[in-house]
Amino acid sequence: MLALTIAATVHISVLGSFHPVQFELQPAAGQTLMVESEGRTEVLEGEHTLPLTGPAKVAGRNGAAVRFRLALPGSAAREYIGKLEVRRAGVELLAIVEMDRETAVAAIVEVEGAAGLPDEARKAQAIVTRSYLAGAHNRHLGYDFCDSEHCQLLKGLSHPTSAASRATLATRGQVLVYKGDVVPAMYSANCGGHTKTLAQTKWATPQAGYPFFSVVCPLRGKALGHGVGMCQMGAIDIAHHGYNARIILGHYFPDTTIEALSGQCSRRSRSARS
Ligand SMILES: [Zn+2]
Ligand SMILES: [Zn+2]
Repeated sequence: MLALTIAATVHISVLGSFHPVQFELQPAAGQTLMVESEGRTEVLEGEHTLPLTGPAKVAGRNGAAVRFRLALPGSAAREYIGKLEVRRAGVELLAIVEMDRETAVAAIVEVEGAAGLPDEARKAQAIVTRSYLAGAHNRHLGYDFCDSEHCQLLKGLSHPTSAASRATLATRGQVLVYKGDVVPAMYSANCGGHTKTLAQTKWATPQAGYPFFSVVCPLRGKALGHGVGMCQMGAIDIAHHGYNARIILGHYFPDTTIEALSGQCSRRSRSARS
């Protein structure tokens, strides 16, 4: 067990790339939302949709995490589980969802994992994603991560029985560790034959922590992405040769170990009976 105390939730700003000035909020099926705005608390249930045009806080009864849908007017809603806070940011609104890290991992792996991806490559992706969420700091001011490629793509909940959810559950709490710290692990689509060290990138900010290494990749071809950390195409190739997630990660992240975050056994309580 890793003796680090890392919060089990992350604050992710969602839908920001659409530059929202208004959101439409709806409870997921069977859920009750408590919406606090302008000093009032409103109960939102059933099929009702509530427009949000300013600061608001949304949770379930007793302030617990809750399942809800959020949309921009006229576009498809995305579903999340957590607590929502809407803040003003200039003329736009920020929607920040505090969600369980495991929920976020599954949602990101859902976007990153194409159908037909070998299970071990998907598990490697889950561990990389979780490590990033637990180990990366100061990406944004006032919240942890955004849901765009700047941090990691997230488009709402993964289906509970999807391959992404299964890979997340199979690796629950596991992160890459280097010298006692969680590695803010990165990945890119195709390294082109060699991965890069941090110093070889344009963001050569001298910093303590994992330096990343240049390793040979089994796949060549046209480089796509920054080339630091795990090469997704290379990971698929290694998995196709019968190697597991541990071997894949050992290859792309030399000198690291895989360890379990402590406090991962506490389950989110089911919605309280009222
Ligand atoms: Zn970001
Ligand atoms: Zn590669």
